[in-house]
Amino acid sequence: MLEMSGHSIKMQYPSSTFQHLMALLTILHYPDKRLHKVAKPVAVVDDRIRKLVRDMAETMYDAPGVGLAATQIDVHERVVVMDVSEDKKDLMVLINPEIIARSDEQKTYEEGCLSVPGVYDEVERPAEVRVRALNLEGESFEFEADELLAVCIQHEIDHLNGKVFVQHLSMLKQTRLKARLRKEQRELERV
Ligand SMILES: [Zn+2]
Repeated sequence: MLEMSGHSIKMQYPSSTFQHLMALLTILHYPDKRLHKVAKPVAVVDDRIRKLVRDMAETMYDAPGVGLAATQIDVHERVVVMDVSEDKKDLMVLINPEIIARSDEQKTYEEGCLSVPGVYDEVERPAEVRVRALNLEGESFEFEADELLAVCIQHEIDHLNGKVFVQHLSMLKQTRLKARLRKEQRELERV
């Protein structure tokens, strides 16, 4: 499923150290305009970025979700964390990720998003992608992804480009969804 070249993209922390350093971040909810900002590339992978990654990972696992882009916590830098494993022990960190090749074959998958809670819908995307990114040491690596991992990577890179998965749906669905979410928001504010 995942072909590696060179560097491991998995990251492990001793759990006690990890717990000391964690902080849960607030996830923006669609239709928040800040979800449509385009994130800037990370210039230097330093301790500030490594702390951001730790906090994002903790926020993703707590939610729980399989992926989180920095855009979703209102940090507009190109950082993604993901874990598509069943036991939730395979954290993947992608800094400045780029899709460098896509398959012609497309696949439809039912997607959801921590920024659009309770909404799931089918999105068609390339079935396989080749990705280049930096790891936590600032080193470049490449790999190929298919199945859920390919979906997740494309979904998260969309976030960095200011795009939420519901924007792949028909305009009619998007209009209905926005109206429904705004109504729910007004009802929450009234309570
Ligand atoms: Zn999402």
